[in-house]
Amino acid sequence: MLVKCKGCGNKIDRDIAYKVIIKGKNKYYCNKQEYEAIKIEKESKNKVINLSFELIGKTTNTALFKELQEIANIHTYTKLLKYLEENMVKIDAAICNNIPFVNEYAKIRYYSTIIKNEIGDFKEKVEIHDTEINDFEIIEEIKYSSTKKKSFDDLINEY
Ligand SMILES: [Zn+2]
Repeated sequence: MLVKCKGCGNKIDRDIAYKVIIKGKNKYYCNKQEYEAIKIEKESKNKVINLSFELIGKTTNTALFKELQEIANIHTYTKLLKYLEENMVKIDAAICNNIPFVNEYAKIRYYSTIIKNEIGDFKEKVEIHDTEINDFEIIEEIKYSSTKKKSFDDLINEY
């Protein structure tokens, strides 16, 4: 018997599908990984909305949800959440500097434009940190050897 995957819509054999029981009903997914990824994405979406409310104020204006969804379609809510968590202070300051906005829509557009402009270049802190350490080590190595060489030359010149 074939069942439809709740995640991607593919038809899959019920015997190999990953089954989750939600409110007494069987839901099927291609595999556990797909289900977990969707779950994380949904949780991220809720957190993104809450953080957005913190930054621009609670709203029912659908423009906000539309803008966030547009960004998530390209970058995922999971990445959007990480970006917001790391840039809360900066975004908050930018919004405060632009008060007053002509209306709520202008504020939402301003907020989503900041995200759109920056999220493309955003990398998680862990990755950036690793690169910094590597660069630092290389620079240190070069400095060390050149200093050593110079002092050796100086030493020869002295005698
Ligand atoms: Zn699927």
